Amino acid sequence: MGDNVMALRCRECAREYPVEPIHVCEFCFGPLEVAYDEDRVRASFSRESIAAGPHSMWRYAPLLPASPENRVDLGVGMTPLVPAPRLAEALGLGELYIKNDTRNPSFSFKDRVVSVAITRAREFGFETVACASTGNLANSVAAHAAAAGLKSYVFIPADLEQGKILTTAVYGPNLVAVWGSYDEVNRLCAEVAGRLPWAFVNVNIRPFYAEGSKTIAFEIAEQLDWSLPDHVVVPIASGSLLTKVRKGFGEFVHYGIVPEHPVRISGAQASGCAPVSSAFKAGVEHIRPVKPDTIAKSLAIGNPADGYYACRAVRETGGAIEDVSDEEIWEAMLLLASTEGIFGETAAGVTIATLKRLAQQGVVGREERVVALVTGLGLKTLEAVAEHVGPTMTIAPKLEEFEERLSSLG
Ligand SMILES: *Cc1c(COP(=O)(O)O)cnc(C)c1O
Ligand SMILES: [Zn+2]
Repeated sequence: MGDNVMALRCRECAREYPVEPIHVCEFCFGPLEVAYDEDRVRASFSRESIAAGPHSMWRYAPLLPASPENRVDLGVGMTPLVPAPRLAEALGLGELYIKNDTRNPSFSFKDRVVSVAITRAREFGFETVACASTGNLANSVAAHAAAAGLKSYVFIPADLEQGKILTTAVYGPNLVAVWGSYDEVNRLCAEVAGRLPWAFVNVNIRPFYAEGSKTIAFEIAEQLDWSLPDHVVVPIASGSLLTKVRKGFGEFVHYGIVPEHPVRISGAQASGCAPVSSAFKAGVEHIRPVKPDTIAKSLAIGNPADGYYACRAVRETGGAIEDVSDEEIWEAMLLLASTEGIFGETAAGVTIATLKRLAQQGVVGREERVVALVTGLGLKTLEAVAEHVGPTMTIAPKLEEFEERLSSLG
């Protein structure tokens, strides 16, 4: 078996590098990407081979940069693609689906990238894995490192939600809370990565890590009976997920798994951290870094590494990027929960509120087959809704009191 990786290739100048834990081109400082041996992929990749694979994201192993026989797999992926007719009606849309990635082992889409990164890190011979995280990555690295028997160092901003800190700490990592923003944590990690022989999943292992995101696109296509949707709405933090959703659809077409079909990709940000949305709306290419201030902490990257590429992908596919206020975010969390029974975190609120805005603007059409990515679980960000929901009534255990209150509800 093994994997089908041939080289790392610079996204800007196409220079090739050996398959090593590196992530930046020495000549132009462009990001490195995994390049596969296309003949080998073609020989081992078909609808039949996929369907015969494991019931996890590893069924797409020929297009992942690590060997399936070595995989660290907690059962990541094959999350439900749920029709959302009641939400569609509320938003004035037609055929709408929720890709429910809350249903992953550590309850977010980050398990997709981490399963690949930790597998590859172990193949490279690393004994310690690490990451800079806005929360969900911390959960996932800690969980996968535990299962793989690797040491882990997880760096987070100290002001993260309790629900993200505790649900990371339980897996027993070395959890480093830093007084600073995510961007400062990330810069610290880049410095640490230069000193210590650790696999930072989103620094020196980033080219491998990022490929895991493609599996969300692969699954959507498989779950739509081997076809592509018309429009996908994707939350943006670093912008990596958005670019990889596009790449995933493109690879399925390239290898003849699905018929060609244009997919518009739209991006979602919080107004309190909207560097990519701002660039998109201003019609400029350069992403100007911002200082985040939003309840959507999982998306709070002020200087997004793939922001430029995400913005370009949205423009090239005819999508749009919007940003929404904290109030719109929690309202959309409740809208999703109360129409479809899915409790997503603040990032899901960002996605659904953005979808609502795009529907109002006519950017997303009633005739389109739309998929919205719900990438993390609401139980991890209870603070966002705690002030806005609660018991309908609080009563003594007495029938008369209940009946009285019930009739006064009308
Ligand atoms: C990390 C994250 C994203 C987006 O990640 P990118 O950095 O843009 O790839 C989206 N949703 C949630 C819940 C996340 O944790
Ligand atoms: Zn280069």
